Amino acid sequence: MATFPDFNKGLYAPLAEVDPEVQNIIDKETWRQFSGLELIASENLTSRATMEANGSILTNKYSEGLPAARYYGGNEYVDELEVLCQKRALQAFHLDPAKWGVNVQPYSGSTANFAALTALLQPQDRLMGLGLPDGGHLTHGYYTAKKKMTASSIYFQSLPYALDPATQLIDYNGLASLAKIYKPRLLICGASAYPRDWDYKALRTVADDNGAFLMADIAHTSGLVAAGELADPFEYCDVVTTTTHKTLRGPRAGLIFFRKDSDKAKDLEKRVNDAVFPACQGGPHNNTIAGIATALLQACQPSWKAYAKQVIANARTLGQELVAHGYKLQTSGTDNHLVLWDLRPLGLTGSKLEKLCDIVGITINKNAVSGDASAQVPGGIRLGTAALTSRNMLEADMKIVADFLHRAVQLSLLLQKEAGSKLLKDFVRVASVPQEGKEGALQVRTLRDEVRAFARRWPLPGVDVSTLTRPAGIEEDE
Ligand code: PLP
Repeated sequence: MATFPDFNKGLYAPLAEVDPEVQNIIDKETWRQFSGLELIASENLTSRATMEANGSILTNKYSEGLPAARYYGGNEYVDELEVLCQKRALQAFHLDPAKWGVNVQPYSGSTANFAALTALLQPQDRLMGLGLPDGGHLTHGYYTAKKKMTASSIYFQSLPYALDPATQLIDYNGLASLAKIYKPRLLICGASAYPRDWDYKALRTVADDNGAFLMADIAHTSGLVAAGELADPFEYCDVVTTTTHKTLRGPRAGLIFFRKDSDKAKDLEKRVNDAVFPACQGGPHNNTIAGIATALLQACQPSWKAYAKQVIANARTLGQELVAHGYKLQTSGTDNHLVLWDLRPLGLTGSKLEKLCDIVGITINKNAVSGDASAQVPGGIRLGTAALTSRNMLEADMKIVADFLHRAVQLSLLLQKEAGSKLLKDFVRVASVPQEGKEGALQVRTLRDEVRAFARRWPLPGVDVSTLTRPAGIEEDE
């Protein structure tokens, strides 16, 4: 039996023994995910296999560089892994390896995007992306009148394009006119909060007319694109980036696909690879790459198409049910996994509904809707169905979820009255603490109990829920 010096004794015991504090936090988060309804459009519930790969011994290894061209020894298996991951990424998106390559090392979607900009642009070159208030992402060039908010606007110049206020769809004509004047070097499409599909052909025309690269950031929709349920950006783009943890249902990371046969630049492969390392990153997170590979294997299965179809069917049903309750949706519906719910006609802010939903166990996020007067007070809510679909929910279940949301809105309106002020803190107080002669807080508890009971009827990917018990630190009145 080997003897251990004191400083190595903690290397073998399980987490619960070594660090009960962190274990307890994980247990509480597991309980929260089990007991609530996850409707954040950028989240999903990854598989046990992905979590095992992600939590594996691969975290120990440094492997700066690319397969067979590393700056460290000992990478024979890491090379095998990265090549496998690349192969599966191309396969999942039905790409010909002669025409497309992929870098699987980005730590996240934001770093993937910044590396892509680094590959395609020189400092202070011009880019155009969908404006953040219209559903675009921070990394697509966002800035305000007061501040350049992200590296994409600090190191590059950017001009946002917008939605057509009448239809709330991308204003392709307006974009073409702006591009004609602005002459961007890069046109970015893709969004964080846009419920409709993209016209990549029209965007390619604008890019070509102005000598620009076309890049799609399909972070939100990549799982649906892989399934062939949305238009194919690879047909028209030079570069495609994505996160791996949204509809693609993998671990948290990013991918950059590049065209090997682009007319615009024959060296995109080298430019992208050099931009990821050494320009923007150091050693890849090999444990994450293993998790991505495993998630991609799942996305290559015939059953993936059924999952993607169900995500979309669920989003459609959720949207239709909200409309049936009399609510307004941006673009009146959806083509993908998300709906944007416009609360402004109700006189309710996104912040208040988000807060109340948090209290009752429905996880959503406030979101700007087209025409919002202030970005600080978003007038809507973004809802996505990828995670609930991963818990096996179908259209009939979305009706129940829509009813919960409807009750949450009605309750928020009541609480707003009871609070007697517009302040969020007063709203939270009357929602949380029963007030003499007021109904609101009691109704909050009833709704919370019903949401909990409903949510706990479903499995939670990666977890054996039959063994779950309420962890220390979570109070629940019976
Ligand atoms: N791109 C889009 C369109 C996104 O919606 C997001 C995140 O929500 C990102 C990039 C950034 O991804 P990450 O949070 O992994 O950096």
